[in-house]
Amino acid sequence: MTGEGWKVSTKTGQAYLHKLLRILLGLEDTRVVDAGFDAAGLVIDVAPTWRRPRCSECDQKCPGYDRDADRRWRHLDVAGMEFHLRYNTRRVKCPKCGVKVEKLPWAETSSWFTRSFEDQVGYLAQRCDKTTVSAMMRIAWSTVGSIIQRVVARHRDHDLLDGLTVIGVDELSYRRHHEYVTVVVDHTRGCVVWAKEGKNADTLKAFFAELGPERGAKLEAVTIDMSAAYIKAVTDASPQAQIIFDRFHVQRLAQDAVDEVRRDEARAATSEEERKQLKGTRWPLLKSFWNLSLFDSLRLSQLQRENKRLYRAYLLKDSLVRILDCGSEWLARIKLDQWIRWARRSRLEPFKRIAGTIRDCTEGILAYVRSGLSNGRTEGLNGKARTITRRSYGFHSSSGLIALLMLCCSGIHLDPVQLQPGSTH
Ligand SMILES: [Zn+2]
Repeated sequence: MTGEGWKVSTKTGQAYLHKLLRILLGLEDTRVVDAGFDAAGLVIDVAPTWRRPRCSECDQKCPGYDRDADRRWRHLDVAGMEFHLRYNTRRVKCPKCGVKVEKLPWAETSSWFTRSFEDQVGYLAQRCDKTTVSAMMRIAWSTVGSIIQRVVARHRDHDLLDGLTVIGVDELSYRRHHEYVTVVVDHTRGCVVWAKEGKNADTLKAFFAELGPERGAKLEAVTIDMSAAYIKAVTDASPQAQIIFDRFHVQRLAQDAVDEVRRDEARAATSEEERKQLKGTRWPLLKSFWNLSLFDSLRLSQLQRENKRLYRAYLLKDSLVRILDCGSEWLARIKLDQWIRWARRSRLEPFKRIAGTIRDCTEGILAYVRSGLSNGRTEGLNGKARTITRRSYGFHSSSGLIALLMLCCSGIHLDPVQLQPGSTH
């Protein structure tokens, strides 16, 4: 043992010390070989209780192949001091899997941390902010990203894609909105069931490939945005599923059209003052009639007098929102038809354009009015997912964000790691 080792004079004393340390470790199938301190803290030399190494892939006992150099694993701190395990891992020659690292009772072969340590990180990451997790566990936040990927894989007790009937597909932008993660939500259980980097048809196809035809045939409804690629991916894989267009995406179409009209008008403005005024209407124009403040209402009535085109755009947007909220499918059908005709005659290019999209998507929009299902149904979940996206800054890849999403939003239950003396053998 390097560093400051413990000299125990008698064999009985040594055996007692090892027993004490084994209880302190609280790890299954792990024996203590030696112990001491170094600059980092307490270091215990350990070994698996089994003599013949086992393959880490298939758990079979196999002949040894060679030994790696010293490896260390962080374990839960003891009395505020870092606690490390040390062992020379062996490689085995498995008849089934080839040359593999041996199975270790205390950690996964790819990790530098014990399972107990990782589970504690997972428990904290579900509940605390970045700084707290990093400071308490004394690890970098980027390390948390890779740890929780393993925690999620270990604690997922059933296949989340089983029993899905009504799902929602949404995307989250991260890293300052340049990259996306597609998220599939189970509307029935209100949890995230799947996530993958990207936001195109291939991403959604990957979900359906994982779901498989049997489970895909049981889907009753899918809420998505109005992208043709998404529609095709859903209809190819689950033709029986009712497509419901997410109301917030429908609403956003109209909001974007209003904004486009406003920008066109600002460009065509003859005076600087008029341009400034149009700039000031951006936020009131996005609000619904019911949410306007007195000041906003004054701005809009001024607009009604001075810029009829932009005011018309606002009315078109607001009436589309009201159709979505009307609660009656037959009324919505009539009103949507009138709205499309109005938008086409509006002499506003952006609205003429979206009139076509809305017409093509009428059935999916009416399905929303009928069912009330949208990605906003899991509003709490959406908010949580967005907070998680912000917390994931600092992770090296989207897989850290996805793991954090699954850890916090897919129903994984973790308890703090607490051991009683004698809880392991
Ligand atoms: Zn094997």
